[in-house]
Amino acid sequence: MSDDDWSSDGGPFALRFYPDPILKRRGAPITTIGDGVRDRVRRMFEIMYEEGGIGLAAPQVGWTARVFVINLSAEPEEPGHEMVFINPKIESPSGSESDEEGCLSFPDLRIPITRPESVRCTATGLDGETFTLEATGLLARCVQHELDHLDGVLFVDRAGFGVQVTAKKALKALEREYKESRGG
Ligand code: ZN
Repeated sequence: MSDDDWSSDGGPFALRFYPDPILKRRGAPITTIGDGVRDRVRRMFEIMYEEGGIGLAAPQVGWTARVFVINLSAEPEEPGHEMVFINPKIESPSGSESDEEGCLSFPDLRIPITRPESVRCTATGLDGETFTLEATGLLARCVQHELDHLDGVLFVDRAGFGVQVTAKKALKALEREYKESRGG
């Protein structure tokens, strides 16, 4: 199977940038965790490490599935920190905290986003086992950011009005770059 066969829109299984329309699509639940899913998850970690990220959601690489990966250490040498979330759900949000956030699909854009400071996340791992974790701090922020991707929600959508105004210039630049990359 070639890389292109892996994506959901006929484009490459590679990092997609705003405003690629696939970023606004909802991911479909995973029904079977087989070699295909395991290979794609491996590729997602590789792409995430290449880009220096700590989290990556499937739609960001052209795969509209309910999967995201996290390694808060951002180090491939720390596989013990790798977390895979398949068909994740979030419950019991509590507190509220604002912090700077970035996204691999929005190079160089860092903006403050307010989110619940802790959440409970239930998901299935690559081994097919369901797990639940109580996430706080950076992990809670990351889990919420990545889960949003599975619903086509981007961090700029969560920004306050003032921040959206400030970010407009950067977004316009990304829109221009995207158009040029498509030869238009
Ligand atoms: Zn993101």
